[in-house]
Amino acid sequence: MDQKVDFPGLGAAAQSFISTGPKKLLIGGEWVEAASGKTFDAIDPVTEGVICKVAEGGKEDIDRAVKAARTAFEGEWSKVSPAQRQNLMLKLADLLEKHAEELTDLESLDVGKLRFFARIIDVQGSVDSMRYNAGWATKIHGRTYDMSLPSMHGEEYRAFTVKEPVGVVGQIVPWNFPLAMAIWKIGPALATGCTCILKPAEQTPLTAIRLGELIQEAGIPAGVVNIVTGYGETAGQALIEHPDVDKIAFTGSTPVGKHIARTAADTVKRVSLELGGKSPAIVAADADLDVVLPGIANGIFFNHGQVCTAGSRLFVHRSIHDKVVEGVANIASGMRLGSGFEEGVQMGPLVSKEQMERVLGYIEKGKAQGGQVATGGERHGDSGYFVKPTVFTGCGTDSAVYREEIFGPVLVATPYDDMDEAVKMANDTDYGLAASVWSTNVSTCHRVSRKLRAGTVWVNTHNMLDPAMSFGGYKQSGFGRENGMEVLDLYTETKSIVMQI
Ligand code: NAD
Repeated sequence: MDQKVDFPGLGAAAQSFISTGPKKLLIGGEWVEAASGKTFDAIDPVTEGVICKVAEGGKEDIDRAVKAARTAFEGEWSKVSPAQRQNLMLKLADLLEKHAEELTDLESLDVGKLRFFARIIDVQGSVDSMRYNAGWATKIHGRTYDMSLPSMHGEEYRAFTVKEPVGVVGQIVPWNFPLAMAIWKIGPALATGCTCILKPAEQTPLTAIRLGELIQEAGIPAGVVNIVTGYGETAGQALIEHPDVDKIAFTGSTPVGKHIARTAADTVKRVSLELGGKSPAIVAADADLDVVLPGIANGIFFNHGQVCTAGSRLFVHRSIHDKVVEGVANIASGMRLGSGFEEGVQMGPLVSKEQMERVLGYIEKGKAQGGQVATGGERHGDSGYFVKPTVFTGCGTDSAVYREEIFGPVLVATPYDDMDEAVKMANDTDYGLAASVWSTNVSTCHRVSRKLRAGTVWVNTHNMLDPAMSFGGYKQSGFGRENGMEVLDLYTETKSIVMQI
């Protein structure tokens, strides 16, 4: 059934995409309904209205997608040369760029993002990431070795390694950067010669589906990328259990990541996990407040706090603590909330009702456990999933808002007296995804960035990512590194070949 929709600000291409629902699954190069015939609703977090219906893939669909991916891996895709793979990826990047405005509209609508950021971060970042990974396709190689084996009768040996694609990869992504997270995973899979089944988050399936159409248009062979929308507990679960999946690449919460690692152990699948965070930002007494105040506010409120690296724990030298808290709280209370399509809006809604309730629940817990609200601390309005940007002070180190990942616009500020204490507090967490240090003293910047136990450390900035820089977590923020040349290790096996000649 075609539905009539009218979402203010949405361009004609995105309007047309969502009007031609229900959306289907991409399996073996065909767009098909779920075997069960079931669908679920894509919801606009601003109006709470239904955007369109989407196929609800399940076990049977995953099974078909894995078979299609295996057939492509062993067949047509294995004959495509590295240079041809690179060209197909560059073509896909060009198509992403050509349809950037439409993809931006869809991402902004589905997630509730500011359209401006969706264009330059999500969509342009996806184009750049695909081009970056395309470059790797022709630069994957092994090494040669001189052997020290015994040679009784003058035998000689030649030895080398080759990098081979790991095979069929299940890729499970979250809802905060749906297109970018999908590209971060599909890019290296294509570069290395793997095939994949992408399972987008149920909250935000739209750009992945449009991506599937562009993958076909780029001429990437059928079955190389399969896209199965559906729920984590059903479609996702079937993917992680499937005996013919060689690897799972997951981005999402730490509890689900642990479950995936346990499940994947049954078939010894390769697993890479990009999980949650509770990233600290340490502000030294000598920091430049003109840089610090907008930087800290952006570090936590960008994407409405729904960022795995969000600077959600702020440690400020006691001498400037109150000034920094006041400055950040002023920025927060002055932020305009509304639809990401509206000019001048600085923060949109959270992605779903569930996420809004979760964040509001944390805020209430923070208050109950003795935290003081410097600004925010409640829902904004009574329709749409908006939460006011919130700053807490005086939270105990055992309180939930101090320790747990909230994944919303909630900052917890704590004073410290010396830098060793600040580093100790910053590292006192199960997570280790990212951190930032703010100082005008270059020695402090170097010293502290080496002491912080995190996969990425920023200095006088926060949340800056580039396809060339490896990205991933220490501790319970996961293992494996995406982006940079390190990602190739996640998608390849190393084979040693030793020859007697
Ligand atoms: P989530 O773990 O609930 O869901 C992520 C994905 O896993 C979704 O596609 C979901 O359907 C799927 N899933 C859920 N249960 C599953 C199961 N049993 N088997 C297989 N798949 C299953 O996370 P979320 O709420 O969508 O995203 C927020 C989380 O993601 C936060 O913790 C955030 O820090 C993390 N995140 C991490 C990074 C990173 O790179 N480290 C980036 C973005 C988000």
